Amino acid sequence: MIIVFKPGITKRDENAVLREIRKLGYIPHVMRGVARTVVGAIGDELTHATLETLTAQFPHAVESVIPIQKRYKLVSREAHPANSTVRVREHVLGGRKFHVMAGPCSVESEKQLMTTAKAVKAAGATILRGGAFKPRTSPYEFQGLGEKGLKLLDKARRETGLAIVTELLSEQHTDLVAEYTDIIQIGTRNAQNFQLLIAAAKTGKPILLKRGLAMKIEEWLLAGEYILANENPNLIFCERGIRTFETYTRNTLDLSAIPIIKRESHCPIVIDPSQGAGRADLVSALCKGAVAMGADGLLIEVHPNPAEAWSDGAQQVTLEGFAKLMKELKPFIQAAGRD
Ligand code: PEP
Ligand code: MN
Repeated sequence: MIIVFKPGITKRDENAVLREIRKLGYIPHVMRGVARTVVGAIGDELTHATLETLTAQFPHAVESVIPIQKRYKLVSREAHPANSTVRVREHVLGGRKFHVMAGPCSVESEKQLMTTAKAVKAAGATILRGGAFKPRTSPYEFQGLGEKGLKLLDKARRETGLAIVTELLSEQHTDLVAEYTDIIQIGTRNAQNFQLLIAAAKTGKPILLKRGLAMKIEEWLLAGEYILANENPNLIFCERGIRTFETYTRNTLDLSAIPIIKRESHCPIVIDPSQGAGRADLVSALCKGAVAMGADGLLIEVHPNPAEAWSDGAQQVTLEGFAKLMKELKPFIQAAGRD
């Protein structure tokens, strides 16, 4: 950490601050400039107490304290320079193969799920999405089929061979959801529900961590750190749009998160253009952008009849629309050097 002294600091105050820095386990190196004196405090910021309290402790002597180390460690590129991959049944996410996860927002019925599963599989998806426990803004909206929905996902997996991703909404359902799913989705509303993150991590299942709707990328990386710090290396980040002042889209899909996550972390990242835009007509363009920017996969909502969907009707693409999209994406996937 760097400690910046106020101008005109007395020798006595300087010594008191240096004593405190040593007491907290850092080695201080004093650097005297023309106008200011700063101290480089050497020590591991993640394992030592923070020095940020020095401004409060010595208000007349310390102007600011600047941390140098990042607050996350295990998710960082520094900790693991190569890209990490996540195994999901026979698939590898984050490797050369680009993966498309597709399916309805919510599991509604056997017919709806099976029709969708077969269609997305035929079009080239490898993972089936579908919410059994739904986080709905209003308590009067469809809350999901619960365990019945999980059983239908299991049936769809057996019939199509697709792997499954579904949301874990509450800690109390951890064992139940983990029993059925191949990837546990942590939704945007729960992205900083740390106890839920820990419970999900402890299942050992791959975790798809959505970005919180008002989350800074640093906070998202730190939420991911909870997964790795709980001995689960199988983390996949998922950008799904953040809340901004824009009203043409449901959220603002932040595609800049892709190169930033790629630079900061070794974990794979997938893009969810469906929650991102909230509009089916924008999904294709956003998918192409995501592929071109280096995403490892996509999470796309697909419904046999979006107009009658029980949730998120406006953003779900039709089965035909999805097949067309997958064809259109091929040259983009190849141009990005992926299969
Ligand atoms: C979803 O995937 O249907 C969903 C509810 O996602 P999010 O948590 O990103 O809103
Ligand atoms: Mn949805």
